[in-house]
Order: sequence, then C-alpha cells, then structure tokens
Amino acid sequence: MQIKTLKMDLSAVSATQYPTEGYPEIALLGRSNVGKSSLINTLVQRKKFARTSSTPGKTRTLNFYQINEAFYLVDVPGYGYAKVSKKQRAEFGVMIEEYLTTRQPLKGVIILVDGRRAPTADDISMYQFVSYYHLHTLVVATKMDKVKGNQWNKTISAVNKTLNLNQTDQLQLFSSQTKSGQAEVWQWIESQI
Ligand code: GDP
Repeated sequence: MQIKTLKMDLSAVSATQYPTEGYPEIALLGRSNVGKSSLINTLVQRKKFARTSSTPGKTRTLNFYQINEAFYLVDVPGYGYAKVSKKQRAEFGVMIEEYLTTRQPLKGVIILVDGRRAPTADDISMYQFVSYYHLHTLVVATKMDKVKGNQWNKTISAVNKTLNLNQTDQLQLFSSQTKSGQAEVWQWIESQI
C-alpha cells in the first residue's frame, strides 16, 4: 500500500464522535503490549505515528487513523488492562462492544496475539465475540522475530487450535522488527475495504 496521506483524525470516547465521511474502517484489537502500535507504525511506515507502549490506566479512546483519504485504521485500546477499575473497564467494554456490533463502516477486524505463546483467555473471548458477530477477521501473531523459523509451524497450529479459527478467517505471522508479514496484512486490508 502506498501511503499518500495519513492523518490522526480523531480520538473518540463516544459514538457521537466517530467520523461521518463513511470511509471503510478496519479495527485493530489486542491485549496491551501485544505490539499493536508497532504494527500500525510498520504498516504506515512511520516510527512514531501510533504511540507505542501506552500506559495502562490512561484515558482510553478509539483512535481513527485516516489513510489516503479513503479508509480508517481504528486503534482500539488494549483489552486486559490490570490497572483500571472494574467500572472503567466495564464502561470501556460497552463502548468497544457497541462499536464492533453496530458500526456500519466497519469492514473487518485484526486481532493481534503474541506469536511467542498460545492465545490467552482474553484473546479467545475477543475472537469468539467478533466471530459471533460475523466480522471478517485477520489474526496477526506478532513478535515472530523472537520465534525461531523452525517453530513457526508450532505458532500456526497453536493459534489455529486455541482460537478454533473459522475457515473464513486468516492467520498471518508478523514482526515489526523484520517487517515480515507486512505486505500480507496490507493485502488482507485491501481485500476488505
Ligand atoms: P501495544 O501496547 O500493543 O501498542 O504494543 P507496542 O507496539 O507498544 O509494543 C509493546 C512492546 O513490544 C514494545 O517494547 C515493542 O518494542 C515490542 N514489540 C512490538 N512489536 C514487536 C516485534 O515485532 N518484535 C519484537 N521483538 N518486539 C516487538
């Protein structure tokens, strides 16, 4: 994907603040620290566009990154925060759920999992949630530079088995360090928007 224009368009804390142009959207979801900001930065070929290592507990918003005046990547803050209160977590969960279940321009979801270990209970719930709502999903296993080449098949089977991936969904191994998988993630995004 050639990036011609890139805008951090807006941060939304409620549905009234979502963009109104109707451009297609792809949401990115994953536990905090899984490598979501790094994936976004790799995709848009910028070092510090999306903030990396976001602090748990800070105000969490849906961030809409507008690309080529054509579509949005929507950064959904990491689930599984330890430091926020149950109330904050519940409120935020409602916003994410509402976004994922009612947002018309949403064309697909990328769920990030840590390629070094089997998906967690949070990853499984998130995948089950988006599957239930028939959202087209790409699962991206991150940090694959930390996994030896001869173990990549193990990652593939662990993710497939743990998440019980639907036939219509795909898995892509990825590393923001080596940029391995970058073209394939873009290909998937382009096929959805
Ligand atoms: P986020 O919280 O999901 O946005 O995660 P970040 O992108 O901030 O990454 C969390 C940590 O993992 C940071 O220290 C990154 O440098 C590191 N990280 C992210 N992606 C990769 C990767 O592909 N390979 C390696 N080795 N480290 C990564």
